[in-house]
Amino acid sequence: MAASLVFRLHDRGPQLVREVLLERGWKEYDKRKREDRDWNLYWRGSEFHSSEYHSLLPWQRLNHHPKTAGITRKDSLVRNLRRMKATFGSALYNFSPTTFILPNEYTSFLAEYKLLPNREQSVCWICKPVDLSRGRGIFLFRDMKDLVYNCSVVVQRYISNPLLISGYKFDLRIYVCVKSFHPLTVYIHQEALVRFATEKYNLSSLSNVFAHLTNTSINKFGPFYKTQKGQVGSGCKWTMSKFRYFLQNQNINELFLWQRINNIVTLTLLSITGSVPNCPNCVELFGFDILIDSKFRPWLLEVNHNPSLALDCRTDLSVKKGLISDLVDLMDYTAVDGLRGKTYQTQRNVQTSFNANISTPVPSLPKLKDHNFQQKNKKSSKMHHEKTKRQIPPVETLHWILGSKMKVVKTGFSSGQMKYTPQVTNRDDAETQDEMENEVSSSVLGTQGRRSTFRPSTDSWRLPDKYRKRRRFHVEEAKPPIGQHVPPIRAGGFIRTFPFNPATLKASLVKLDVLVVIQELQKLTAQVASGRLEETTGEEEEEDEDCFDSLLWGPEDPPLLSQWLNSKTKNT
Ligand code: ADP
Repeated sequence: MAASLVFRLHDRGPQLVREVLLERGWKEYDKRKREDRDWNLYWRGSEFHSSEYHSLLPWQRLNHHPKTAGITRKDSLVRNLRRMKATFGSALYNFSPTTFILPNEYTSFLAEYKLLPNREQSVCWICKPVDLSRGRGIFLFRDMKDLVYNCSVVVQRYISNPLLISGYKFDLRIYVCVKSFHPLTVYIHQEALVRFATEKYNLSSLSNVFAHLTNTSINKFGPFYKTQKGQVGSGCKWTMSKFRYFLQNQNINELFLWQRINNIVTLTLLSITGSVPNCPNCVELFGFDILIDSKFRPWLLEVNHNPSLALDCRTDLSVKKGLISDLVDLMDYTAVDGLRGKTYQTQRNVQTSFNANISTPVPSLPKLKDHNFQQKNKKSSKMHHEKTKRQIPPVETLHWILGSKMKVVKTGFSSGQMKYTPQVTNRDDAETQDEMENEVSSSVLGTQGRRSTFRPSTDSWRLPDKYRKRRRFHVEEAKPPIGQHVPPIRAGGFIRTFPFNPATLKASLVKLDVLVVIQELQKLTAQVASGRLEETTGEEEEEDEDCFDSLLWGPEDPPLLSQWLNSKTKNT
């Protein structure tokens, strides 16, 4: 029987992750019973230490990429978006409200403030501590004399004309999974949360947090939380599906709204892609907070690196449980991940039979290009290595299990591009699960055509039934160009939003060509806005279109991009 996959939760971790994985047949890591590194997935709310990225084994995954604070800290996000704005233009990077980082930019803020007409009455500002979340420490003000702070904060122009439902303000919590930064591979989930304020929006009372902030952590303590609030109902959350239904009666180009949100996600991620080291075995779930104004224009408020997985109400349950389950599907655990169990089992046997030298380290990682980073982490990494090396399965053991033809390479991370170890990491280049399994099995055993005796637990890696049929259909539709890395078009509710066409696939394969990506994004947005396909120029492009397709994220039943564009062309 196949060994179960093992998950490890830091600090007892999110209960929801535990529940989903146990239901799928995983086992929870118990440090009294297992060796330090005998696990497949390590989940933690906070960042991992750099040494933990360095010492990853082929079958181990972490739920954070290294160095993503560039978008998840409020001040870093501002700096990165500003840099992109300066390089690629303010017409493109216009989705974040004007922001100042205080105290450093106090003078610039003052200058901007003084330029505003009728400043006491008109413009509102919102002040937020840079490293707090859940609405803590936030306040609104109009008059400069009300700006009081004792820590690093961002002061941001308040979007004072939000779209309201029955008079209540709301924002969207969009779930984004970055499966890889090198090459950039992004999925956005079809389900999301609509988070409402619980008192009617009113600009004459800026101090009422229940009217101006949409954080659940605040509103669930509001006096009107349980009251029926017009169309909003009781509580403070809707699912995205309910919001889509609301949008249908709004007489707007719904697809264009989704595409603009999709653009915000891609453009924000582009701002850090170059600085995130390559770590193929990491996957990260980000929470993008988007506010829609009364003109249906989406704004980015912030990016969360640890979106809440708490279950406060039924809506949470219906959105978040599917989300985590789809995330596990996206992690794409395959036969190779079961080698953990085999390795640790065999290690014990080898130790007793051959008295193997278990302190032999696994061969070294690809070297980091970032010299300073290396220096800084050398010491801690060495300490960590010393601490853990006696528990790493020896190379002989790994070879014995993986087969002599299999090169044993730890996955770790590097700042270089495309350091793939395809034989032991996610396999997006195989077209079907069976093919993937065959490839892994034969390479693992160093044999051709002979199937591994190891069979992964079907519960733990297959798509849920309701998506399997649809996914197969789309995978058939989207044949990969020969020799290119084509990530699956979807995994359950997660829709691949980047790369979205042959040009962006090509632009992301070696060193990300941001300019090409931006041009393609603009082209697609114009097409979605007008609902028309631009003239294609050559045969090559048409051929590529046949080979690589994407789904349009957002609408309830997302159409294939090519089919949607073709149908629009025929109709015009
Ligand atoms: P936190 O990390 O503390 O949740 P956010 O930046 O998400 O901080 O802000 C909390 C809430 O404040 C948001 O959910 C939103 O309702 C409101 N908010 C934040 N910034 C703005 C803004 N610029 N305009 C309008 N509302 C905002």
